[in-house]
Amino acid sequence: MKIMVAVKRVVDYAVKIRVKPDKTGVETTNVKMSMNPFCEIALEEALRIRESGLAKEVVAVSVGPAQCTDTLRTALAMGADRAVHVEAGMAHVQPLSVAKILRALVQAEQPGLLILGKQAIDDDCNQTGQMVAGLLQWPQGTFASKVVLDKEKQKATVEREVDGGIETICLDLPAVITTDLRLNQPRYATLPNIMKAKSKVIKKVTPEELNVELRPDIEIIQVAEPPKRKAGVILPSVDELIDKLKNEARVL
Ligand code: AMP
Repeated sequence: MKIMVAVKRVVDYAVKIRVKPDKTGVETTNVKMSMNPFCEIALEEALRIRESGLAKEVVAVSVGPAQCTDTLRTALAMGADRAVHVEAGMAHVQPLSVAKILRALVQAEQPGLLILGKQAIDDDCNQTGQMVAGLLQWPQGTFASKVVLDKEKQKATVEREVDGGIETICLDLPAVITTDLRLNQPRYATLPNIMKAKSKVIKKVTPEELNVELRPDIEIIQVAEPPKRKAGVILPSVDELIDKLKNEARVL
């Protein structure tokens, strides 16, 4: 079985986000970019499945500008066998377009499993996995915190984190899985593997070659920073604190 993993290049999770002065989005110039953390978890899960002998090949895919090859090199250094870069001129390709691209790649590559992050930390959409499952008419296990494959029965058992507990579902393969935080702890790429990944070939395709038109379906009207926190006050006594909580904040 082949596993395809979608890895997105996003602003690094440790960077303090700044909104552009014209409020059209967040600043990405001279900002550290990395693989989306949920995509690292998706890739780690695919690698573990391959290492357990249940899959033969892991293919990493990224959609976006030329710099996505850095993200794909990281994927190759972590252990992916192959990488495909879908070259999109625009920096931000919306979830429905990414889902259509992934559908076209799945139809060409025929993987038994497509694993995505549950959400990208830049747009927080949490849409792509669900959309591609809908387009492919494949079963989906979203927010996975545990995945167990049964190769003979061609089924995947997925534990999902839901409000108030864990839901366990069984999916027929091929299927789409999206990863939650507690699924695994992604590995670091070792230096020898980083060096080896430099010489691996990253296949390039365009959306046109996949017959997908990159059409924005959502118009972003404005991106604004959250309101600044007001300065606090130091009160001289507990009585005054209780008075303020009762009469100003009205929380008592
Ligand atoms: P989103 O629906 O934007 O929150 O993204 C959810 C997941 O879809 C991500 O964690 C990735 O696995 C995948 N994805 C979204 N956009 C891209 C992209 N441009 N390239 C590769 N994978 C993507």
